[in-house]
Amino acid sequence: SSKLDNVLYDVRGPVADEAARMEGEGLRILKLNIGNPAPFGFRTPDEVVQDMRQQLPDCEGYSDSRGLFSARKAIMQYAQLKHLPNVTMDGIYTGNGVSELIQLTLNALLDNGDEILIPSPDYPLWTACATLAGGIPVHYICDEQAEWCPDIADIESRITPATKAIVIINPNNPTGAVYPREILEQIVEVARKHQLMILSDEIYDRLCMDGYEHISIASLAPDLPCVTFSGLSKSHMIAGYRIGWMILSGNKRCMGDFIYGINMLSNMRLCSNVPAQSIVQTALGGYQSVERYVEPGGRVYEQRNYVYEALNAIDGITAVKPKAAFYIFPKMDVKKFNITDDEQFALDLLHEKRILITRGGGFNWGAPDHFRIVYLPRMGVLREAMADLADFFEHYRQS
Ligand code: PLP
Repeated sequence: SSKLDNVLYDVRGPVADEAARMEGEGLRILKLNIGNPAPFGFRTPDEVVQDMRQQLPDCEGYSDSRGLFSARKAIMQYAQLKHLPNVTMDGIYTGNGVSELIQLTLNALLDNGDEILIPSPDYPLWTACATLAGGIPVHYICDEQAEWCPDIADIESRITPATKAIVIINPNNPTGAVYPREILEQIVEVARKHQLMILSDEIYDRLCMDGYEHISIASLAPDLPCVTFSGLSKSHMIAGYRIGWMILSGNKRCMGDFIYGINMLSNMRLCSNVPAQSIVQTALGGYQSVERYVEPGGRVYEQRNYVYEALNAIDGITAVKPKAAFYIFPKMDVKKFNITDDEQFALDLLHEKRILITRGGGFNWGAPDHFRIVYLPRMGVLREAMADLADFFEHYRQS
């Protein structure tokens, strides 16, 4: 449990606890710490809600443990559009969000002492689930100077005979990076050389901006064992329904034991939430309302531009422009602000401005020099928040 305390520290740690305590006293806290679209006015498409309503009477029983045929067929067709090789209906599993499938996958894959490469910064559930499964998360660096792309030499330097797999998060939370084809090809090359399974978390794949094309790494690795994760929480703004999926592709011959394990774990949880599965086909087909958000004039696009510019205008703060998702991961000049402890910084900001952010350490980032902002709130709220941040950093010196 002490291991767990470490990896999940920021989910239930002192900064979030302090924010909850302040709220309990009646103070209003601006939460820029969680990627949950609905409270910020991003509505689930009407057609999705209507279709769930209509199908609800038919969703009372358990489904096949992998999921409804109609849901998996729609996911299969999506996989075809993303050029994933060697996908079969049996290799598609639905889950109560990608979260459940990350846990299931790492439990099936990792034996005690097995190593798994995970990005730093990461989405911390990956590190937590690897640890829970008895594995050893080994963090590789994503390089801010290279628009937060994975550092291939760093990845290679961390591979040992115990390394089983590499995780990539593309598009990335918390940096907003989208990896170009050359980087993905280099990762595939490393995985091929060292016989690693590739696990790719692509939950933000439909939230790319500025014309960046999302490429599924599995499409470049027909000869390797790959698992691609996605879902509707972000692209369709329905995080609360709990629906995600994973797709096995590429070389299945060497996945026998793994498939045995995930089938067993999938059966043990009986099935994922059936009403949410029933709207996958509606959500994935036809007109994609999310596109409106990420094009010029759209909320996510305009809010991204504003926050990026406002942060970079603050003396001592620099940020790489996010290309996707709804997060930005700015850097603080630790000398200027005398910052040695990013948790203390997060607490100081919370106390002074009642703004809750997540410190870089919450994403397994080693230095105390970053934090993440969720830029989902409406422009008016963001304007106030950025003015407050500018004011805070004008005088902040950590004592
Ligand atoms: N993967 C990444 C990179 C995420 O940012 C999140 C949620 O923030 C998840 C997975 C979990 O998503 P879900 O709602 O499908 O469980």
